[in-house]
Amino acid sequence: MGARLVLILGGTAEAAGLARALADRPGWRNVTSLAGRTSAPGPVAGELRQGGFGGVTGLLAWLAAERPAAVVDATHPFARQMPWHAAEACAALGIPRLRLLRPSWQRATEDRWVEVADAAEAVRILPNFGKTALLTTGHEAAPTFLQLHPRMRLVLRSIEPIPDLPLGVVHVQARPPFTLQAETALLARYGVDVLVSKASGGAAGHAKILAARAQGIPVVLLARPPQPDGPAVADPSEALSWLSGLG
Ligand code: NAP
Repeated sequence: MGARLVLILGGTAEAAGLARALADRPGWRNVTSLAGRTSAPGPVAGELRQGGFGGVTGLLAWLAAERPAAVVDATHPFARQMPWHAAEACAALGIPRLRLLRPSWQRATEDRWVEVADAAEAVRILPNFGKTALLTTGHEAAPTFLQLHPRMRLVLRSIEPIPDLPLGVVHVQARPPFTLQAETALLARYGVDVLVSKASGGAAGHAKILAARAQGIPVVLLARPPQPDGPAVADPSEALSWLSGLG
């Protein structure tokens, strides 16, 4: 019997971790699928495919052709479509599917978190909390937050460049993970008095939350979107156990 195929829906550190673990396991092979949003994705162990499938129909066609033993949906907690497409397509074909979803950050008593539904709500309340905001919600949310310019001083951080930013808006192009020291220095350099972040969870983005906590800076947190029902685990090692249990 040939090696069993796992399709990993990727774009996260957890997906990369699972791919590395599976690449070392006899009897398994894996394909990591990336949406192709970041121009220079990190290295991936195993096979790689890039670009959208073409909705549920395209995903169904891919799965029917490749017949993976399982799909591990390790997309980002804020991926709003892919988890639902995977749930629908896997259910239709009877392919086992697992959600690999990193745990949320835990609030400490000294945290000053303000939880909001989305970027639009964040824009509405942000001026109540500070004058200089560090926005870490990615390049796609940038246009929404730019409505606050020049009322607030904006420092936007993203992996990808953001073209045509108005004069006076600061852009910091950087890729996680970040250290606590670097995040503390960034807050100080620009005099940031309010931080905006997705409630992404995970270690790679946690340092900014810790830096804000240490400095008593409020954090406006965008809530996670809902997830499809089904089995879910928090880290790659649990995903490996689930795969081993498939029989
Ligand atoms: P999304 O809303 O769930 O997906 C939008 C479309 O992108 C999907 O319908 C699908 O296109 C394609 N797609 C998404 N993930 C894919 C994957 N792993 N392989 C192939 N196609 C994929 O997701 P998104 O928010 O645009 O994020 C895109 C990717 O970036 C995700 O894989 C996610 O893990 C990663 N990411 C997202 C965030 C975030 O904050 N949203 C942060 C870090 C990383 P088709 O319908 O054509 O198949």
